[in-house]
Amino acid sequence: MLHSTLPNSILPVAPSAEQINSTFEALSARTADQRRLSAKERIKRLDALYGEIWNRRDDLKVAMWEDFRKPAEEVDLTEIFVIKSEIKAVKKGVKRWMKPRRVTSGLALIGSASWIRPEAKGVVLIISPWNYPMQLVFRPLVAALAAGCTVVLKPSELTGKTSEIVAEIVAAVFPANEVSVVQGGVEEATHLLSLPFNHIYFTGSPAVGKIVMRAAAQHPCSVTLELGGKSPVIIDESAPVRATAKKIAWAKLSNAGQICVAPDYVFVPRHLELEFAKAFQIAMTELYPGDIETNKDYQRIVQDQHAKRLLDLVDDAVSKGAKLTYGGGGDANQCLVNPAILSDVPADSRIMEEEVFGPILPIIPYDTLDEVVEAVNSRPVPLALYIYSKRNRFVSQVLDRIQSGGASINNSVVHVSSNHLPFGGLGNSGIGSGHGEHGFKEFTHLRGVYEQRMKGAASLLMPPYTPRKTKVIDRLLRWL
Ligand code: NAD
Repeated sequence: MLHSTLPNSILPVAPSAEQINSTFEALSARTADQRRLSAKERIKRLDALYGEIWNRRDDLKVAMWEDFRKPAEEVDLTEIFVIKSEIKAVKKGVKRWMKPRRVTSGLALIGSASWIRPEAKGVVLIISPWNYPMQLVFRPLVAALAAGCTVVLKPSELTGKTSEIVAEIVAAVFPANEVSVVQGGVEEATHLLSLPFNHIYFTGSPAVGKIVMRAAAQHPCSVTLELGGKSPVIIDESAPVRATAKKIAWAKLSNAGQICVAPDYVFVPRHLELEFAKAFQIAMTELYPGDIETNKDYQRIVQDQHAKRLLDLVDDAVSKGAKLTYGGGGDANQCLVNPAILSDVPADSRIMEEEVFGPILPIIPYDTLDEVVEAVNSRPVPLALYIYSKRNRFVSQVLDRIQSGGASINNSVVHVSSNHLPFGGLGNSGIGSGHGEHGFKEFTHLRGVYEQRMKGAASLLMPPYTPRKTKVIDRLLRWL
């Protein structure tokens, strides 16, 4: 544990309002000291955090298996490795990002100096979802610590085993007045949102994102909203069908489709629809051969109600005329939803209206790009947009005509692993962005500082406005 004046003890799951309040007060009281930490001291905290994550690697794997049968290899790849590489990127950049930066004062303010001081916002709240129960807690934490903030983490109650290890890791590394974990659900989150945090970094659904934003307006404080939505895939006829299908199948089925940037539905040129569906089916069985129920690489849905929602989405689409081209079925009691492909999906079926967030892929045939643009743009701006094409003109036409939080060409999902690209949404898919320096900036206030160094010209322009001053003002307006 880092040198501490206030040892950390783990708060009970669902702590009382008083316990949450006193945690908040301790973190608030520490903000001035935390803000002044040098880059070296911030890096020491990041190293200590990773050291403890590494010590608890096996426990994290057990917890995530128990929470939703996440394969151990994917805990390494999509949780631990992601944090390791985020910490590496932040360690490399933080000293530079923290430095005050001189800017010009401009001719009108001649005789002065101006600079920007990046300063920690203060005490911040990070609320996370369950689908990557460690990565989505610790990745923003790394950014907040790099910025010099004190932090309350509120991990998801749906992956409770992992949240418990998260709380133990934090308590082993940080004093309670630097980072604390509040485990709990809506009640605890609601109470946290009533406190005057200086920034809220929320990852989760658009519906809860709106609740967070409303609560933030009461203090008021800034927010980062990392939300979700329906991320479309657009396949051009120049794309190789088999290779494209394999990449999309991998992105759609990892985490059993419970990824905020999972390909939600796919547009395929009409004459390639069957070929693509066949290739997608082959790719799925190559990735998850044999009986899906006993395949240990195929993950479960987090909760029986979520599994039931997915099975209902298929039933609803089929009842409205969609065809189940492949797969389908599952067992909600076991949180199992089998991969499925749907075709001829009516636009008014629920699966075309809500984020799928599961292993079911609607395939939509198209004749012209105009149709595709119109269909995507009639929905809220997606978090990700995927384009598969060998033609630059096609790619740039799509990018020019369809907005999205991020975009990826000839691959899906992997862009989230970059620590250099900003990651975030637009409108219904989010506000602000994380990862690397972009995350650091979310937790940082850019304070503009101006210093008058020589006698300035401003006093010459103060009232009373004599004819001479009127002339000077007129000249300034024309020449500056
Ligand atoms: P969710 O919005 O239900 O829950 C997220 C967090 O908010 C949890 O910690 C939960 O306890 C809390 N919460 C729930 N209801 C609340 C309320 N009424 N008031 C305050 N807090 C509340 O989301 P989820 O089901 O955990 O995750 C799935 C969603 O998250 C999907 O929409 C997905 O696209 C999105 N997501 C986005 C990203 C991203 O980086 N953009 C990453 C992962 C998931």
